[in-house]
Amino acid sequence: MRTTPAPDTSADVIIIGGGLAGLSAADGLRDSDLRVTLLESADRLGGRTYGQHWDAADRAVDMGGTWLLPSFAQTFALLSELGISTVESPDVVHWLTHFRTGPAVQRELTTTQLGELTAALDSFAAITEAATEPLTAEAVFQAAAATDRAPSPLIEDWQRAMQRYLAGAPLDAVDAGHLLLDVADIADPEHYHTQVSGTTQALVDALSARVTATVALGTRVTAVRHDRGEFRVETADGGVYSAARVIVAAPLNCLADIEFDDKLLGSFAPLLADGHAGASHKDWLVIDGIPAHFRVFASHGPYGYFRSEAILADGGTLCVGLTPSAELPLLTEALEQTIREHYFPGATIRARLSHDWNADPHARGTWFVPRPGQYAALPELTTGHPQLWIVGGDVDAAFPGMIEGAVLSGQRAAAAIHQPPAAERATR
Ligand SMILES: Cc1cc2nc3c(=O)[nH]c(=O)nc-3n(C[C@H](O)[C@H](O)[C@H](O)COP(=O)(O)OP(=O)(O)OC[C@H]3O[C@@H](n4cnc5c(N)ncnc54)[C@H](O)[C@@H]3O)c2cc1C
Repeated sequence: MRTTPAPDTSADVIIIGGGLAGLSAADGLRDSDLRVTLLESADRLGGRTYGQHWDAADRAVDMGGTWLLPSFAQTFALLSELGISTVESPDVVHWLTHFRTGPAVQRELTTTQLGELTAALDSFAAITEAATEPLTAEAVFQAAAATDRAPSPLIEDWQRAMQRYLAGAPLDAVDAGHLLLDVADIADPEHYHTQVSGTTQALVDALSARVTATVALGTRVTAVRHDRGEFRVETADGGVYSAARVIVAAPLNCLADIEFDDKLLGSFAPLLADGHAGASHKDWLVIDGIPAHFRVFASHGPYGYFRSEAILADGGTLCVGLTPSAELPLLTEALEQTIREHYFPGATIRARLSHDWNADPHARGTWFVPRPGQYAALPELTTGHPQLWIVGGDVDAAFPGMIEGAVLSGQRAAAAIHQPPAAERATR
């Protein structure tokens, strides 16, 4: 990769945003003869994935996207191609799930409860499918409660707990489709254990080293225009870049700040105007005086999802927690108090590390969580120009909100440039 200032502001392809989607697009174009320029507003690449060494835990921790699901075929293929391994963390065998408040502790749902969960999901699906207007997740809970297939309080609480950290937003702001997860996922949310060795930063670093694009860091795009067969991309520092093709790979919640010429956005326009609702907050903690292995999965208390990650050499427990930003005590003293009240009376927080992605001007939110109607819209979205692509973890229909969606959609845009649709080839 060559870094800036970019000597030449005209390119064949401009990529806006250097997270995993933008980097994957640049990577897919590295063997072409095309001149590719990547414009990145922050002073680093990687976007909502970055890892840093944390002295308090004497190890690197992931501040953003971390866990890889078995279905992430493209990400695993890329890791293998780049010679990067993954690690399993932590040892799931020893875990307990503290579910709901009070003394309830259970490892997994009983067969009867599993049946109830399946029935609840069927009922949610039926309500969602029958609706003529997009429903919110909260509206589905309310509608289900009024039927003879209403989930039991425990099953409803289980689902609310899952949504609490997965959405990080009030359920009346979230699309009903967010409730329709696989039974297996909801029954045991512990599929978050495969991570990139050395944090996701290792993937970002390897891609950054391999791409041949000219990269301009600290270059925030403010406008995308199209005139006489060419795109003109304007930046906050007064730069004007031109290219025949543009790949937009910035977070959905940042796109409303970019001015697009009329009609360029096509059916993406409403999505960009509304943004997504995802606002979960991720915290790393070193805590003394708590059990070595635990997992909290709760609709109450400071965290929706809270687990031990490792026992440190000095006996402290490294933990990770996820919860809606709006519910998280900002002061560590207050957080410690609520951890004591809800989970472990003897807990003492020794160190805490978090990055507020919601306040971060390069992200303005965490992962994609759909507002009502956005799930149904995703698969149909097209831009208003065949040489303009909008990609990223926030808009990928197959893996929305995930690392895989970022990688896949970036690679797909690069492939489309390599192999334009037949109709377009014929007119050249
Ligand atoms: C706390 C957290 C935990 C997560 N956990 C997981 C997980 O465990 N597993 C998983 O699969 N996914 C997870 N995700 C989601 C995953 O990280 C994202 O979906 C993915 O990284 C998005 O990549 P992207 O390239 O689409 O966007 P980003 O990574 O956000 O990259 C977009 C880039 O665009 C840049 N940019 C913004 N505005 C402009 C502009 N105007 N001009 C130029 N550049 C601009 C940004 O600086 C950024 O570098 C998590 C996300 C967060 C925040």
